[in-house]
Amino acid sequence: MKKLVRKNIQKLIPYSSARNEFIGKDNILLDANELAFNEPLNRYPDPLQTELKEIVSQKKQIPVSNILLGNGSDECIDLLVRAFCEPNVENIITVSPSYGIYDVIAQINGIELRKVNLLADFQLDSESILKTIDSNTKLIILCNPNNPTANSFSETEIIQLLKKFGGLVLIDEAYIDFSQNKSFLKYLAQYENLIITQTLSKSYGLAAIRLGILYGNKFIINTLNKVKYPYNVNALTINEAVRQLTEKNNKPWVDEIIRERTKLQQALIDLPFVEQIFDSNTNFLLVKFKNAKAVQELLLQNRIVVRDRSQHELTKECLRITVGTADQNKLLIETLKKLAYEKSNIL
Ligand SMILES: *Cc1c(COP(=O)(O)O)cnc(C)c1O
Repeated sequence: MKKLVRKNIQKLIPYSSARNEFIGKDNILLDANELAFNEPLNRYPDPLQTELKEIVSQKKQIPVSNILLGNGSDECIDLLVRAFCEPNVENIITVSPSYGIYDVIAQINGIELRKVNLLADFQLDSESILKTIDSNTKLIILCNPNNPTANSFSETEIIQLLKKFGGLVLIDEAYIDFSQNKSFLKYLAQYENLIITQTLSKSYGLAAIRLGILYGNKFIINTLNKVKYPYNVNALTINEAVRQLTEKNNKPWVDEIIRERTKLQQALIDLPFVEQIFDSNTNFLLVKFKNAKAVQELLLQNRIVVRDRSQHELTKECLRITVGTADQNKLLIETLKKLAYEKSNIL
């Protein structure tokens, strides 16, 4: 594992923050140049977010020592790349189409991102992925279930990659709670090159607080702890996450979104200009139209915003539609029906 870390990071002596060093409660804290007034927000937060990690640990049945928290899972992924991938030398492999942030993170860190197209059925082209690996490939990123194709990849194929590839494999599970398939967390102890990210931004309805979770082996977590900014998760986020994860019924809205997803799917099938609706393991639907651009623009004129994914050859004429509330979905369908009637000439 040690060999996988960037050379400068192997040598890094991490910053030791004041809040890292103090032990015990009820001390008189004169060590961090905080203001003595305006309790409790005058104090720096716990750099290791131990209380929150213990709650996550309980829920997920993963030891605290295998957990890193970040300012969204985007920060977790960026940290992983920064700590493990050598700029201007090493490369990352991901699939295409997938989540756009991987591209941005790779570019910012000076790392080549090699994109391997999915097969026509949106499954992994494992053969091409294996062929694309070279001695400078450090990381494979798989978004599972995948954004924007909405499907899950074959578990056995991912396991094969974990076994055959000597570098790290990151599985981005942002949508796992909407999926029929189980999380790869069950394999965490078995494969030391497996890393998983999850987020409170989707199924927990907490995108605003920015909290991402990365699971990996202890060595990886320790390395990332050295690289991250000391107070990367702020106290407001920690407190709100603790409150919501302890007080609220666990993800109370997931079942409703899945029910609404099915309803939306059934209603969309009946529209004359809908070509295909892809199966979804997420909280969105990828829908193929005869003329996606026109549908998007007409929806926008009706104040309904959806995402155009038609740039990619595998998702031509496709829009990505997030599942909303029952009322929002009803309005979407009514609007589409109205358009089917009024604009049949262009749609
Ligand atoms: C929405 C999303 C995330 C969430 O990122 P955060 O930074 O945690 O909000 C991560 N990965 C994918 C693929 C997503 O679609």
